[in-house]
Amino acid sequence: MSNFVATELFTHGTPPFNIPNIHFVHVALASIDDAGITRTYLVEEFIDESVEGKFTKYISNNSPSPLSNLDAKSSRIARYLSFAQHVQYIKMRKLAYVADFHGLHSILYVLLTIFTSDLSGCLFTEGNLMHVFTSFEDKHVCNEFCKFFST
Ligand SMILES: [Zn+2]
Repeated sequence: MSNFVATELFTHGTPPFNIPNIHFVHVALASIDDAGITRTYLVEEFIDESVEGKFTKYISNNSPSPLSNLDAKSSRIARYLSFAQHVQYIKMRKLAYVADFHGLHSILYVLLTIFTSDLSGCLFTEGNLMHVFTSFEDKHVCNEFCKFFST
């Protein structure tokens, strides 16, 4: 996302608003072979809420719209993340996008909810998640970030 924005800023110039300075949590898979049994773990960057502040939910997994009960700073971040969803959706040729954004003001944590239309429901449990994916274009409202970058 940051590469896309950096490239687009070169084309579009400086926007009349600030772009949130956030990054995704660093993660890695670690495998350990113990007596012939391989165990795989998801290792995540440690985020200390007592230092970084409390987590904020920006966009849930049941709608592509930013949550409405956010303060001004969180609302700006949520709109930026909504723009990121839109870019991902376009870049993935409308086959997938990432949802359920939450985190701190500078560190973004994404619950691994990736909506896709290509796996015949393999990524979905019962419920309305597939409906959320198929309604993305109807429910997403382009904001100042989408409009500036001509998404
Ligand atoms: Zn948009």
